[in-house]
Amino acid sequence: MIIENNIQLAQYTTFRIGGRALYFCVVKNEDELVEAVGFSKKNKIPIFILGGGSNILVSDNGFTGIVIKMEIMGKEYIEKAKENADEVKVIVGAGENWDSLVEETVEKKLYGLENLSYIPGTVGATPIQNIGAYGSEAKDTIESVYVLDIKKDEYKVIKNIDCDFSYRDSMFKKEKNRYVIISVTFILNKNGKLNLEYEDLKNIKNPSLKKVREAVIDIRKRKLPDIKEYGTAGSFFKNLIVSHSKAKELLSLFPDMILHEVNDKKAKIPLAWILDHVCGFRGVRIGDVGIYKNQALVIVNYGNAKAEDINNLAQKMSKAVYEKTGINIEPEVQFVV
Ligand code: NAP
Repeated sequence: MIIENNIQLAQYTTFRIGGRALYFCVVKNEDELVEAVGFSKKNKIPIFILGGGSNILVSDNGFTGIVIKMEIMGKEYIEKAKENADEVKVIVGAGENWDSLVEETVEKKLYGLENLSYIPGTVGATPIQNIGAYGSEAKDTIESVYVLDIKKDEYKVIKNIDCDFSYRDSMFKKEKNRYVIISVTFILNKNGKLNLEYEDLKNIKNPSLKKVREAVIDIRKRKLPDIKEYGTAGSFFKNLIVSHSKAKELLSLFPDMILHEVNDKKAKIPLAWILDHVCGFRGVRIGDVGIYKNQALVIVNYGNAKAEDINNLAQKMSKAVYEKTGINIEPEVQFVV
């Protein structure tokens, strides 16, 4: 395995932003991963695991450690026997492209991942964020996650129940830099049920796995910028989950505000609605940075924006939301410094 020096990171991120990594390597198997982790320990430098680079903002000053680009591949479909004959176990290498996996499972007529279509990034990143969309979350299909525990220098299989999954969160996010995800095992179904509870999917005629995937791709293409054309990391901030009393207070200020019940204590509020209708940010552009015209949660690099420009705009957005609503918004994008 080759460990390179001073590698420009902008080329590895969908934001197309970021300085140089002091060290950089690509790992294609577990031995190479162990070698790269050993290098970081020997030189007492931090590690950053890079997947698809689709949810990160790398500092203009780069990263003074080793960036390990995860390219451990492989897909294995295992039919379950007897009483679980409906289930298929799918073991997938962390470096595999997420949407290619979703496409393949839909083609194989396996239920479970279709609502998570067209999300950029790698399979290894999906448990970290517990990615979710249109009523489905990664945790609904993940059976277990196979990792290298850097702290203890041992391999582990972490079962779903022990991953501490919650809304866009997991133990892997809480204990950053401890676990390197090597592969993820999903359980999919041959005779599953489509999840059409979200408004955007309710009107699909004669719904099928393929049609749900097509509908999700269509919505995402309409709402989100094409990463081939623009630099972006998708939604920059997390959507809001607030108490019912806070939701009531906001509704009295903004009667048209959209609201989704979570349970008897909490409600979800689309932050994009607030950024658009309350703060007027949708479509705003300052030099090479801007807020996407079709989705106010998305910050765009229109050319040669720096991480600092993105941060300045994000801070402006946070301040405006706080002043209008009293809510502190949280970035969904991970900062690499
Ligand atoms: P959206 O569809 O406008 O929804 C905005 C907010 O309203 C989200 O918090 C969503 O909850 C909630 N919501 C909408 N319909 C709902 C329903 N029928 N029941 C309960 N809650 C409902 O959001 P968007 O920003 O354009 O994103 C589309 C989808 O992609 C959303 O599901 C969003 O969460 C997802 N997404 C995921 C990631 C990620 O995993 N990293 C990043 C960006 C967007 P949910 O968030 O629970 O769906």
